[in-house]
Amino acid sequence: MRTFVFFGDKQCDYRSLMANQKDFYAKDRLIPLSHTVIAEQVASDKVYLCSIKDNGAGTRSHPQIQGVDALITTLPNQYILIRTADCFPVLFEDKKQRVVAAVHSGREGTRLNLIGKTLNFLKEKLGIMSQDLIAYIGAGICGKHYTVDEATWKFYNEWMEQQGFSVGKVPFGHIDLRSGITQQLIAAGIPSNQIVHKNICTFESPLYFSYRRDKTDNRQICLIGLINE
Ligand SMILES: [Zn+2]
Repeated sequence: MRTFVFFGDKQCDYRSLMANQKDFYAKDRLIPLSHTVIAEQVASDKVYLCSIKDNGAGTRSHPQIQGVDALITTLPNQYILIRTADCFPVLFEDKKQRVVAAVHSGREGTRLNLIGKTLNFLKEKLGIMSQDLIAYIGAGICGKHYTVDEATWKFYNEWMEQQGFSVGKVPFGHIDLRSGITQQLIAAGIPSNQIVHKNICTFESPLYFSYRRDKTDNRQICLIGLINE
């Protein structure tokens, strides 16, 4: 068993995937639509463990996994997919190749510590310890370019501080999601040398979709799966 990890940019976009409804290439690997699982992504803190019946969710006539923003699978050849355009995709690989997870962590997901909840689910329900995991933080908007109104900023900061997370050295009205996510990974037991940062700001890079820059409804896709071959 091995793990396949893929971070897309504009070259592998969600709207084309939905329009074509065909198997697609992620890097040089053909991903069968019938083995892909897509969540609704409603900025919740809900975690979902996929089963075999979820294969194909979010494509053709098969509904998305409703109300969740984090997917986990232990099944070989099932690809869990996250789509983003400024929010952060976070993928988890298990060194022992037993499980993979994919999380959509935007402002709400980060405020609610969906990262911590996903890692707690892995520990409590599946016995997977954080020290065995590698976390990949994909492209998302940086603290310099992510600004919100005062009430939203205060609300986010209060929640983060109540949970013991620093909001970092950002100016008034700015939110550094990557910093929050990184702290949540470390607090949940992921060693810092097992956190892989893409360090790409979607707002800055023309290679990526950015909702804040373009008001686009398109998204880059990221996926992860265990491959048994
Ligand atoms: Zn930026």
